[in-house]
Amino acid sequence: MKITQIEAFQVQWAADDKPQQRSAFVRVHTDAGVSGLGEASPMQGGRASLGMILHDIAPMLVGQDPLDHAVLLDQAVHTLVKLGPEGALTGALAALDIALWDIKGKLTGLPIYKLIGGAWRGAVPFYASIGGNGDRNIDGVRRVVEQRLKDKPAAIKIRFDNNRTTLDADIPGDIAKAKAVRGLVGNGFPLAFDANNCYSIGGAIRVGRALEDLGYWWFEEPVQHYHVRAMGEVAQKLDITVSAGEQTYTLAALADLISAGVRMVQPDIVKMGGITGLLRCAALAHAHGVELVPHQTQPTIGHMANLHVVATLLQGTKPAEWNDPSTRTHAVFDNPPIPVDGLFRLPDGPGLGLVVNEAALAARRVEL
Ligand code: CA
Repeated sequence: MKITQIEAFQVQWAADDKPQQRSAFVRVHTDAGVSGLGEASPMQGGRASLGMILHDIAPMLVGQDPLDHAVLLDQAVHTLVKLGPEGALTGALAALDIALWDIKGKLTGLPIYKLIGGAWRGAVPFYASIGGNGDRNIDGVRRVVEQRLKDKPAAIKIRFDNNRTTLDADIPGDIAKAKAVRGLVGNGFPLAFDANNCYSIGGAIRVGRALEDLGYWWFEEPVQHYHVRAMGEVAQKLDITVSAGEQTYTLAALADLISAGVRMVQPDIVKMGGITGLLRCAALAHAHGVELVPHQTQPTIGHMANLHVVATLLQGTKPAEWNDPSTRTHAVFDNPPIPVDGLFRLPDGPGLGLVVNEAALAARRVEL
């Protein structure tokens, strides 16, 4: 069996989308008559990843056996390592890995979670991940949280998404928002706070102490992601679980984060390694007794790929991330992942289990 063709393209969601707002999809075709879909990290519309796929990686893969995916992608990362083994390259490889697992499932007639080794849970609870709270006032934060509670999440995460060039801009204001959300949901409801890297070590510890008093479940990326030792220091000084790793792109970098003292890691399936990569991260985290709770903000392919993996994890200690509502969810699939009564049920179909609306996909497709 051989890979015959690799398509890499953007998907446009609104007529006035800017190129950097689009999704980045790949489709891998085989001579066995099946094809697989994958998705790369959509940063800047995924154009850098899509370009690497079209120009650099596809020529290596065409003619190869799709079932050799782990060998092929490790060859690609080592051949292209000087492009920078982080970010755009790992996003490209993640997209291809997901597509090759989709193919493997379609060839065998089995869902990916079954090929991984079976699911510990057939339905996955989620937490509502709510962005943009740095720019809202307290009432605005309360209103958006109230809105998302209607989806019956198992937990809520408030993200601040502030300007990363300014640290500790409004610590009292941030704590006041955290307090307002606690007041709204009541004691006992699981909450998380995502600093999006905008505190100094001292600022993070002040906020972390307040979150401990408010009974928050975890405190995400308190300091700049590239200050790995600082992230570890904050994690070790606080009792609240400190998480990081959504901007970590290699297994070795994830090991550094764990060595620094972070006890909950959040690699993202569309940013590093795809399904194969996330499974390796899960093994590393498990070996260290560290929680693995993947970051995942893409509503269709990325989300579904992530569900297949998290369902197979022995210790699913936290719900899966579900991002702000998106018009992207329903646009090109007949059966996009949508929670029912607070749970995402795993699909029974082969591969990812997603059914493509080909006409809708063709209409939204944009070539690089
Ligand atoms: Ca985050």
